[in-house]
Amino acid sequence: MTPRLACFDLDNTLIDRDGAFLAWAQWWGRREGLGADGVEWLLAHDQGGFRPRADLFAGVKERFGLAADVTTMVDAYDREHPPFVSVARAVVAGLVSLRTAGWRVAVVTNGGVLQQSLKLERTGIGAVVDYCCISEAVGVRKPDPRIFKIAATQTGATLIGGWMVGDHPAYDIAGGIAAGLSTVLVGNHHPTAATPRRAPTRHFASVLQAFPAILNS
Ligand SMILES: [Mg+2]
Repeated sequence: MTPRLACFDLDNTLIDRDGAFLAWAQWWGRREGLGADGVEWLLAHDQGGFRPRADLFAGVKERFGLAADVTTMVDAYDREHPPFVSVARAVVAGLVSLRTAGWRVAVVTNGGVLQQSLKLERTGIGAVVDYCCISEAVGVRKPDPRIFKIAATQTGATLIGGWMVGDHPAYDIAGGIAAGLSTVLVGNHHPTAATPRRAPTRHFASVLQAFPAILNS
């Protein structure tokens, strides 16, 4: 029998991306001498990571009169913020439990290859899943359902009876539904992006609740 596929978003689903951004902002702001205003400005303009980094750093450069050019700052950010990311051990255990039960497990994330790879390596998540599908590497982004088909092909799994777990109603939930997957919405990071047409199969406060729900499906 062809194994079923469980897909997981990375940022603010498997890992606390916003917490890592805050920790990075405090460190970077101190290093650059931005003062308390710097961290506040970064948090106010980050848009949960969805604001293009070139825009973010162009803004911080202008606001605080920084000398470095924007490209250099973005490149440094891509390398320097992944070490601030951590993962709960229970999350890693949950991913392992799915594979032990015969599921194929994939991370499906929109983002750049360098920073997402560093996060997957740093947290150990990359080592316990079957495949990591990074949009920049495969040339397709969520919510395009083709990204889930790529994950199924790469893991030798079927999308039938599969799941997508994520925190974003438009990218993770609508995308998963378009690919024919059952879905779990995690947390309440994007309340304004929710619509009835993207109603998830389940909605949990934490990704930890998704593991038993999938195992029992
Ligand atoms: Mg996310």
